[in-house]
Amino acid sequence: MKKLPFIATLVCALALLCCCGFLGFQCQTLDKNCQTLQTQASQLKKDNSALNTKLTDSTTKLEETETYLEGQKQYISELSEQITAITQNNASQSTDSEKEDPYVTDEDGSNTDPYPTLYAADAEPENATGEKIAYLTFDDGPSKLTSQVLDLLDQYNAKATFFVVCKNNEAYAEYLSQIVERGHTLALHSYSHDYHQIYASKDAFLEDYQKVYDWVVEQTGYTPSLFRFPGGSNSPSSYVAKEIIEEMEQRGFTYFDWNVSSGDGSSLTTTENIIDNICDTIGNIPTPVVLMHDGSGRNATLAALPTVLKNLSEAGYEFRSLDKTVPPVKYR
Ligand SMILES: [Zn+2]
Repeated sequence: MKKLPFIATLVCALALLCCCGFLGFQCQTLDKNCQTLQTQASQLKKDNSALNTKLTDSTTKLEETETYLEGQKQYISELSEQITAITQNNASQSTDSEKEDPYVTDEDGSNTDPYPTLYAADAEPENATGEKIAYLTFDDGPSKLTSQVLDLLDQYNAKATFFVVCKNNEAYAEYLSQIVERGHTLALHSYSHDYHQIYASKDAFLEDYQKVYDWVVEQTGYTPSLFRFPGGSNSPSSYVAKEIIEEMEQRGFTYFDWNVSSGDGSSLTTTENIIDNICDTIGNIPTPVVLMHDGSGRNATLAALPTVLKNLSEAGYEFRSLDKTVPPVKYR
């Protein structure tokens, strides 16, 4: 009879042992499942992070594309305005009668011109040849960058036009002669580049212009006949611009604006922007006059120049300097 409780106890103990074993096994399985779930959660987090990064990148690219397209729209709009202005200007020029020289005679027959030496020689416009020609122009130099610009141009047998400024550039006057000697056109931009000062009146402009003209003649012996308005011919008020243009044309000077902008006037413009701004738009312009700058600090322009020269050369362009035979690009 004593065997019965013993057997019952043994059975209970065995049952308990089995339960413990079973529970232990279950715990182990649950632990493994838990680890697997943690690994999957971690992987999902990583995937989510990667997707977020991709989404951010795509959003940034989309925004950049939108900004670029907005810029292109603005550029096209500016071009349309320029074309309209040039068309109107050509129409008004063709209907203009002969202009009289206001300084030839006064009432008493004397010459009243306060700038009697400030005249440029005349020339006839050349015929259109159908060649692919690009007119690269560099404003605001000479500077320490000019020497490197000249070397790069030489590598491509490229001729260009330099619209120079005197004030703050006196230390680089030696490059003026190099510009001429290496076959480029030396043209004038202004003495001071101070809009407020030079566009105050026609006389203020002439006073400033005489100073830069004298500087260039003294340094090189070359007498320039081309100029570019600082900021373009749209910068002065209509009244002052009209007076300046009439006066300068009377004196034989021709001005050039531009129809391809590198955008390098802004310090935010990157080397890549400059290359794209020029290379992506130049093909749409029959006589491209490209605005660039070789003034102090325009390192992005210098960095872009080799690629611009290479790309345009490969596209069949020849680089020539401006002169009075080139059909002028004028906003007014
Ligand atoms: Zn300028």
